Amino acid sequence: MQVTQNNDRDENQEVRERIQNETLKKLYRKSEEERAQKLAEQNKLPYLDLNIIPIDADTVSAIPEEKATKANLAVIYKIGKKYQIAVADPENFETKKLLQEMKEKEGIAYNLVVVSSDGLRKAWNNYQFKNFTETYEDRGVSIKEEDLTDFEKGITGLIDLKKRISEINTTEIFNIIIAGAVKTNASDVHIEPDKEYIRLRYRIDGVLQDIVRFPKNVHKTIISRIKMLSKMKLNVNDIPQDGNFSVTMENSAINVRASILPTAFGESVVLRILSENATGLKIDQIGFNQYYMEKIQEQIIKPTGMILVTGPTGSGKTTTLYSFIRHINQPSIKIITLENPVEYRVEGITQTPVDQNEEMTFASGLRSVVRQDPDVIMVGEIRDGETAETAIQAALTGHMVFSTLHTNNAAGAIPRLLHLKVNPALIPPAINAVIAQRLVRKLCEHCKEEYTPAPETINKIQSMVNAIPKNDSMEFPKKIEKLYRSKGCSKCNFIGYTGRIGIYEIFTMTPGIEKIILANTSTGDMMNAARKDGMITMEEDGILKALQGTTSLEEIRRVTGEVFAKQGFLK
Ligand SMILES: [Zn+2]
Repeated sequence: MQVTQNNDRDENQEVRERIQNETLKKLYRKSEEERAQKLAEQNKLPYLDLNIIPIDADTVSAIPEEKATKANLAVIYKIGKKYQIAVADPENFETKKLLQEMKEKEGIAYNLVVVSSDGLRKAWNNYQFKNFTETYEDRGVSIKEEDLTDFEKGITGLIDLKKRISEINTTEIFNIIIAGAVKTNASDVHIEPDKEYIRLRYRIDGVLQDIVRFPKNVHKTIISRIKMLSKMKLNVNDIPQDGNFSVTMENSAINVRASILPTAFGESVVLRILSENATGLKIDQIGFNQYYMEKIQEQIIKPTGMILVTGPTGSGKTTTLYSFIRHINQPSIKIITLENPVEYRVEGITQTPVDQNEEMTFASGLRSVVRQDPDVIMVGEIRDGETAETAIQAALTGHMVFSTLHTNNAAGAIPRLLHLKVNPALIPPAINAVIAQRLVRKLCEHCKEEYTPAPETINKIQSMVNAIPKNDSMEFPKKIEKLYRSKGCSKCNFIGYTGRIGIYEIFTMTPGIEKIILANTSTGDMMNAARKDGMITMEEDGILKALQGTTSLEEIRRVTGEVFAKQGFLK
């Protein structure tokens, strides 16, 4: 009897184990994201794809690295004093132990979300910035005499740079900061004093990257060096100062524009690295999808009218306008530009600098330019009624006018013109096309990889793709199975991205849109009319680019903001 019972138990256990193994295997075959989502459902917790949601380095370090990795969790947001904590397994002993400790001993309030192990590793990557600070402060200042040329030979990438900066003596720090910025193609260097340390950040492909934190005692040395080089007043530290200097690297001169601003913790510095070889891109290199490419090529070769590019500063508007100018530039047409300042030199066109504070403003400059018998006029920016009026008149009287406006989306361009007191009746005949754009970073070709998102993520993206107005020029993904992300490698300085590309929304003048303009209705109505005509929004263009693997969904979310929240990607 007893033996039989034992046998029974053994058999049952065998069966149970077999079933368990099968289930495990089955689960294993599913993607890591899908498993995370299942686990979240079982534990009645929300699931989050950290491949899509960006995490702030400062937030992660709310819990020390060793503690967080041991407990298999990471802090991913902080709303007031409440933590949002990502866990890979809510049932894990160490996880539960730390969470309990935080709640009971430290009185920390938190919400839990379940993420994949991949997602957790991604969150932990943010600890590297913190570590460099510690390295620097631990080692203190070592003495080594080397000049800029020696530094540039030694620096191969950002990680290397961070290491070198932490080993260098104070007088040479400035050199290595500049050499590092040039090597990593940074556009700006930010040196920001805080209460206890100096923070160094580079802007690379439009995004600020934390490089290192210096102890406060090197601040004075760096500031004095910059002031001396750019001929600023050395003994003045309570007013903003501006200046220029140039450094020689690899036999070419690099111009640097320096700006110093007094702050509560000392003078803050921004250095703009002016790269001379910023060559303009061609119209087929800036990121137009096939549908928009056809629309734009049709519009820019027209003899008259106006094409407006909208977007905030740094969204690539000038690059877009220059790609148009390159496309149509030929000896038989006269092209004049009005710019503040002239950013790229292009052969065969007349480029005129304007200055809003001087006599030559966009408005007065434009009046003179029209008298120069141009075929094409590029006006750097329309921001006052007089420039708007003159530009519209030029477009109506036999010129092609290219210009930019500061609006968030394409539909916003029309209300902006009306606000500048442009006669609504003149808008439809004058305007050919309105473009809105943003720049997104491209995934590094060397370290990007495919991954299988959770079904929930796929469903949301699928519904966003389904809502896109379709056209015959483009292919739309029918079934979404994979997304792309980057691991980071030496080729991309472990950032995961190299270079940028535009995402766009474009509408051209159609009877439907004309009707809306003349009725003087809202931006919403404008948007609906443009959608009816097939306009793909910037976000949608971005999602399509992410599905092709050009960029990541995380990047689209970073650049276009709230759209993902609306789709329920954020809990
Ligand atoms: Zn890479």
